[in-house]
Amino acid sequence: MTHPAPGSSGPARMHEVTDENVRLIDRVLDFSRRRLLASEVPLDKPMSERELSRLVNERISEEGMGADRALSVFEHILSPACISTDHPQYLAFIPSAPTKAAQAFDMAVSATALYGGSWMEGSGVVHAENETLAWLAGEFGLPAGAGGVFVQGGTIGNLSALVAARDDAKRRRRAAGGSAPDSWIVVCSEEAHSSIASAAAVMDVEVVTVPTDEDGQLRGAHVRPALAEHGDAVFAVVATAGSTNFGIVDDLRSVADLKREFDFWFHVDGAYGLAAMLSPIARHRFAGVEDADSLIVDPHKWLYTPFDSCALLYRTPEAGRLAHTQHAAYLDTLNEAPEWNPSDYAIQLTRRARGLPLWFSLSTYGAGAYRAAIGQALTVAHDIAAEIASRPELRLVRDPQLSVVVFERIGWEAADYAAWSDRLLEAQTAFVTPSSHRGRSNLRFAVLNPRTTLAQLTVLLDTLR
Ligand SMILES: *Cc1c(COP(=O)(O)O)cnc(C)c1O
Repeated sequence: MTHPAPGSSGPARMHEVTDENVRLIDRVLDFSRRRLLASEVPLDKPMSERELSRLVNERISEEGMGADRALSVFEHILSPACISTDHPQYLAFIPSAPTKAAQAFDMAVSATALYGGSWMEGSGVVHAENETLAWLAGEFGLPAGAGGVFVQGGTIGNLSALVAARDDAKRRRRAAGGSAPDSWIVVCSEEAHSSIASAAAVMDVEVVTVPTDEDGQLRGAHVRPALAEHGDAVFAVVATAGSTNFGIVDDLRSVADLKREFDFWFHVDGAYGLAAMLSPIARHRFAGVEDADSLIVDPHKWLYTPFDSCALLYRTPEAGRLAHTQHAAYLDTLNEAPEWNPSDYAIQLTRRARGLPLWFSLSTYGAGAYRAAIGQALTVAHDIAAEIASRPELRLVRDPQLSVVVFERIGWEAADYAAWSDRLLEAQTAFVTPSSHRGRSNLRFAVLNPRTTLAQLTVLLDTLR
């Protein structure tokens, strides 16, 4: 098939339907199709900067190297220098396991140049994203009227929620004729994610960390003394619904109940774990989340979408809008309209409609498929924990609540763990990184990929004998 190639050497060469561009699109789609449909993907591993500089010997130039060569560099050098986060034996940090529908549709989002920032430009996609957010809000028991936006990740989600919380506190303080404290305070547990401290640093507010139970859970009884001591200076309390290290869900109910005695914004960081509420196996652990003033959950973690996506929900979205709407003459036509503009609910302006892959995947497979996949990960984690507990050379550090399993190899030092982990990656068997708790080294399996099996994990334990 031949195509007319208007302006094929002119400035529009990159944008026209030319033979060159048709070929290039076919190549990239072919590559993507192969990767999406591969029954097994290589685990791969990082390379040094030196090695990569040596291998990639073609540079960006005035003339360009052409799509074939650029794609070849990507396929054969750059991509293999990246660990496949969707590999079933990727068990470090928090894995990613996007569904086929979510991955395929992420490409469609790019292909259509959709703008997800305002209703005026993107009403159709904003509608679909809002339907998805409303569905999530319903799962978490938030009232009708809750809403928010999909942002880049949990870090930005937490920051945006806390900025809204402080703005709300300031506004109400001003309305009551009070003045701002010398320093605003956010209260969280010692197990809270590092992004809370990062948000506090950006906002120039103080973090008061309170201890947890021996089992790692934050309870209302731990938070009360901090609220009593710091009073009005506390603008928010953050609870974690699935800590990254251990998958521990704080006692959300008892923290939420403190709102009857104290005035604060209750934020729930569920970036990793809140997705487990979709499964009847774990649902009961999240009682109290329905009282959150804001919460986050990352679809790019346990809701099976590609990077990058975090759902940020506000109980009263107006608080988010007042805090985050940007004002500029050229934006007036948007701001004066009564419609829902996603840009107004977080720290962002231009935005990709990054909620659409989740909308498409949920619409395609149905929520039941999600419940089953999440339930399977919970079951595999529970079963491998039981296996670990039964082996004399291993020690389970804590019973898993969700799908993170932390354990020690008795007699091993940090260097032994590191060497074992390096060997596994070198042999392309698995990606498991050592961690530590209270100064003791340990190993940690984070399971969420439905293709991760109990048998695969058991084989890994055998290498620890
Ligand atoms: C991963 C995680 C975050 C940060 O989310 P990003 O999407 O990586 O920015 C925040 N809180 C918790 C509990 C997490 O697990």
